[in-house]
Amino acid sequence: MATIEIQSVECVPASDGVEDEEISSQTHPNNQYSSKPHLLLSSAIAPTSVHELLECPVCTNFMYPPIHQCHNGHTLCSTCKTRVHNRCPTCRQELGDIRCLALEKVAESLELPCRYYSLGCPEIFPYYSKLKHEAICNFRPYSCPYAGSECIVTGDIPHLVAHLRDDHKVDMHTGFTFNHRYVKSNPREVENATWMLTVFNCFGQYFCLHFEAFQLGMAPVYMAFLRFMGDEVEAHNYSYSLEVGANGRKLTWEGTPRSIRDSHRKVRDSHDGLIIQRNMALFFSGGDKKELKLRVTGRIWKEQQNIDAAGACVPNISI
Ligand SMILES: [Zn+2]
Ligand SMILES: [Zn+2]
Ligand SMILES: [Zn+2]
Ligand SMILES: [Zn+2]
Repeated sequence: MATIEIQSVECVPASDGVEDEEISSQTHPNNQYSSKPHLLLSSAIAPTSVHELLECPVCTNFMYPPIHQCHNGHTLCSTCKTRVHNRCPTCRQELGDIRCLALEKVAESLELPCRYYSLGCPEIFPYYSKLKHEAICNFRPYSCPYAGSECIVTGDIPHLVAHLRDDHKVDMHTGFTFNHRYVKSNPREVENATWMLTVFNCFGQYFCLHFEAFQLGMAPVYMAFLRFMGDEVEAHNYSYSLEVGANGRKLTWEGTPRSIRDSHRKVRDSHDGLIIQRNMALFFSGGDKKELKLRVTGRIWKEQQNIDAAGACVPNISI
């Protein structure tokens, strides 16, 4: 690699620095985590210019085959091509259906840093395997863990904690024990699934406690479970217990919190939490069974081998 003469690529817009300037000044809302490819290694070619060529001038994302060009050589990604109604966005000429094979070949010879390098990922990849890695990169932003809405917010954990508090008005608690009452006046309406989310801050980490009603097969149930705001490996350092009961009966659950990389629905559908049948929930609620009044208590603890890191916060594990 690294011997390509960029000047010989036909679809390069010739010496139109002004135009490039205009294009790159279009800010792109989703570009918060896009690559700033200054880390290119082991290449004799001027990295920035090649990278600029591979940036779609319309959406500013990197282009992957098929890369298109107009008759004047202006390039365009395949996603944008479907949106511009056969007009080159740069020169307004008819676009036609021309592949820019030379640029695709140039791309093949490149190595680029992971697009999340600014979030800490040190990896470098051949251009065409970069996307595959980025889909599973440990440094990729997390999705908003709020359930029951199609929230598209992503970011790191501090960003999402602030987002949950400010935008979803989620209750925030400090501490590793909890004692929550869930009250619902119309417990027959499981179909209108209710979601409740509380965020706990302990051990320097954040946890999402979910409580919700849904239909499990034919049976209406309630379910409570915990998710860890971080990756799966770290989630395994923690355990939690949940307990619900009344009148001399109780149900308990002990488990490992799931990472918020696993969607709320995925955790729910794998039944990885405390599941309470509605009849039992109404029994626990006491009274005339017209109202749901569940008291859920629980604890989060750090596993023993990491007791030093957890410091004084580690609760007594034996009950
Ligand atoms: Zn594009
Ligand atoms: Zn054009
Ligand atoms: Zn990465
Ligand atoms: Zn959200």
